[in-house]
Amino acid sequence: MSGFDRSRNDLIRDFKENYGKGPYHAEAFFRHLYQEGNADVGGVPEFRPVPDLARRIGEDLSVEVPDIGDNIDDGGTKKFTLKLNDGALTETVLIPMAEWHTLCVSSQVGCARGCSFCETAQMGFIRNLSTAEIVSQWASVKFGLSLIPRNLVFMGMGEPFDNFTNVMRAVDIFSDPKGPGVPKRRISISTSGHVDGIRKLTELEHRYPDRAYRTLHLAVSLNAPTDRVRNRLMPINKTWPLGVLKSALLDAPQSRIKDALFVEYVLIPGVNDSQDDAEKLIQWMDGLEAKVNLIPYHPRSSSPWPAPSDDSVDRFFDIIRSSGRECRTRKSKGKGIQAACGMLGRQCRISPRTADL
Ligand code: SF4
Repeated sequence: MSGFDRSRNDLIRDFKENYGKGPYHAEAFFRHLYQEGNADVGGVPEFRPVPDLARRIGEDLSVEVPDIGDNIDDGGTKKFTLKLNDGALTETVLIPMAEWHTLCVSSQVGCARGCSFCETAQMGFIRNLSTAEIVSQWASVKFGLSLIPRNLVFMGMGEPFDNFTNVMRAVDIFSDPKGPGVPKRRISISTSGHVDGIRKLTELEHRYPDRAYRTLHLAVSLNAPTDRVRNRLMPINKTWPLGVLKSALLDAPQSRIKDALFVEYVLIPGVNDSQDDAEKLIQWMDGLEAKVNLIPYHPRSSSPWPAPSDDSVDRFFDIIRSSGRECRTRKSKGKGIQAACGMLGRQCRISPRTADL
């Protein structure tokens, strides 16, 4: 079993059941794992009196930090491909911000959701990533590049809520102050509008208020203010149309917390960028405490649509802003390496997604 698969609570349970030990040793192992990136605990003070236990842990728990290998660097933005044990490839992007780094992680290999503007959709769904495969994307950066990302965004390949259990266990691990220590308010989950996932997240908050799932940022990739257009762009809308999505968001605590909910909107010329679209978007967001992130479309391979002009992006932005709604236009980093929004996967037949990096 991989050590990166286990939350601190999982390890406390494992240590009790498997070794007859309590939280003292389980927590020492957890701390060591995220400080050193290995399961070699023989020299750790808590394990010196119990060398047999240290040896068994080394035998029972594998800890593999995938080799970053080739990575492509574009003005500081790094995209790298991680080879998984079964040969599948996943992609991770490290984005430099003014004073910190943001890490964009993948949750699946491929994606089943088939959004028409998305590069990832072209490869279809291959499989979910395990919790360890998600966490090891962070570990590769910390132990391979000696960088500790400040923010984490689930905006790489895949719909995170299609892999809910593994993603949420990874969130628990990332946000553990004795592990990676990335607070939940610095973790964003981007969803294409997966209503079951949004509702399950809301239930988690109600069941475990002390874990502060309400502070996780939620980015909803909307991209159209009417079911007619959204059905065309995002097949998930046929399962959960805009009214159903809005109702789930109104019930989510993020819709009442400042800076916790974001509506992502990829502007595609002639499809969703008219004045009427902007006005309908403003109406649809009524009642939601949410900001709009406008993302100028980056044409995917064989795209039927071009990129929007700067003028049309500015016009849409001005309409949203003049309604009083907070809005920003995302400057995409990493265009040259196909690591901008919706562009992951072009080089390795894996996918992209929309969201705020
Ligand atoms: S945009 Fe996101 S949900 Fe849609 S196909 Fe691409 S990766 Fe999947």
